[in-house]
This record gives sequence, structure tokens and C-alpha cells, in this order.
Amino acid sequence: MPELPEVETSRRGIAPHILGKTFKAVEVREPRLRWPVSAEIGAVLPGQTLRSVERRGKYLLLGAETGTLILHLGMSGNLRITAPDQLPGKHDHVDFVFADDTVLRFNDQRKFGAALWTSADPLQHPLLAELGPEPLSAEFDAAYLQRRAGQRSACIKSLIMDSHIVVGVGNIYASESLFLAGVLPTRAAGSLQTTEFERLAAAIKTILGKAIEQGGTTLRDFTNAEGKPGYFKQALAVYGRGGEPCRTCAEPVRHLKIGQRASYYCGRCQR
Ligand SMILES: [Zn+2]
Repeated sequence: MPELPEVETSRRGIAPHILGKTFKAVEVREPRLRWPVSAEIGAVLPGQTLRSVERRGKYLLLGAETGTLILHLGMSGNLRITAPDQLPGKHDHVDFVFADDTVLRFNDQRKFGAALWTSADPLQHPLLAELGPEPLSAEFDAAYLQRRAGQRSACIKSLIMDSHIVVGVGNIYASESLFLAGVLPTRAAGSLQTTEFERLAAAIKTILGKAIEQGGTTLRDFTNAEGKPGYFKQALAVYGRGGEPCRTCAEPVRHLKIGQRASYYCGRCQR
């Protein structure tokens, strides 16, 4: 599933190819995504210049002159830049064609993505308005996390995966961040000490920052003919390594389900 680093990598991958260009046409081959593709985009976008390519959480915001196109990659979506003569495949649901014939192609096998138009402030859109701060922003720090944890008895892993608390900490990154911080995923959020919140906030920034940095090495893939851009293998410490030796202490990595999600941790390195 595309997580925040993959979405940020997509943003960096597509932006140089389309920023400042004028939309010529929109071809919607399959409007039935998680929400129906906004019907008006085919009429409203042509003739408008793309002024910005930004990201909020896992949403990409393509700012045009009279509004914003909100894209979400869902479970399996990807974006790539193709030439106009490259025939669409089965899961290439939407093409955004620019005046110079550059095509931004939205592919989504499982159709959980979204392509929505808003003429209002996109940050106030119902899907975005309640999102927590960006993990790499100054707003997200140990004091913020501690304040939001309060006296909560819910486990810390669920807290950091709640997009109302902080965006972009998916299941893999939550396990990895908790390992780096030395905090057990099952701990009650309200039971962490100040120093543990400090280590955890720093670990989340480190893990996500590294993943974004790593994604940078795949940027050329956004225009390759294979069309499978930018989702990269992470060097994972615990996630997916159940039973294998911890890279720090050699104890077998343990796993359990927390809120239906597989969670991996080291029972010796994490407290
Ligand atoms: Zn260990």
C-alpha cells in the first residue's frame, strides 16, 4: 500500500514533468474508484494551468487556477508520466493530458483511490480537515504527542497510526519507529514517560525521513515504460521478520495482532 513516503516520492516524481503546464484533456476510463471520479473535471480542467503539486498526508493536491484536484492512491494506486502514444492498460483509469502531450496516468488495480475536484480550500475538504500534523513538521514533536496521549489506555501503536493524531505513520512505519524508540507497541499510550515520547517522536521523523530519502533514488522510474514506479524495499528492522533474530540483540522478533494489524517487536530491546 502506498504510504506517506511513497506518496511524497510520487509528488517529487511527477511534479517536474507537469508543473506550470496547461491541462488539455482528461480521459476517465473508469470513474468507479473509492468515491466516483468528480464528473466535472473533464469540463473544468482543460485550459487551466497547473500551479502547484503538493501533499497533505497521503493526498496529493494538484492546484489549478479555479480549484484543486485531490488525488489519493488508495491501496494499490500509482501515478506515472507517459507519452501520448502509449496505450492504456487495464487498470489505467484516468489520464490527465497536458498541452505538450505529456500524460499523467493514474493506475489503480484495486480501485480504492480517488480523483476529486474542489473549488474551495482543499485543506478544509472533509477528507483533509481533521488530519493531524505532518510527522516531519515542527508542529509534531514529543510535547504534542504526549499531550495527545494524555491518560489514554489505548496502545501507543494505535495512537501513532491514528491520522487524526499524526498523518502518515502506517503499519510498517509504526512497528519500525517503536523498535527504534525502544517502546513496546502494546504499552498504554498514557503510560509512556517524557523521554519515551521524545525518543518516539524522533524515531518517527527518522524512519519516515529515511524512507522519503530512499524513494528519491527511484524518481527516474516515473517515466519508464514498465510503469511500476517508485515503491521501494525498505531495510526493515522488525516488520515482517517474525521469528528471525533481532538485528540488535539476536532474540527472535515477535509478532502479534493489534487492532487487526500485524505488529512486530523485540521483547528484549523494547520496553
Ligand atoms: Zn532486540
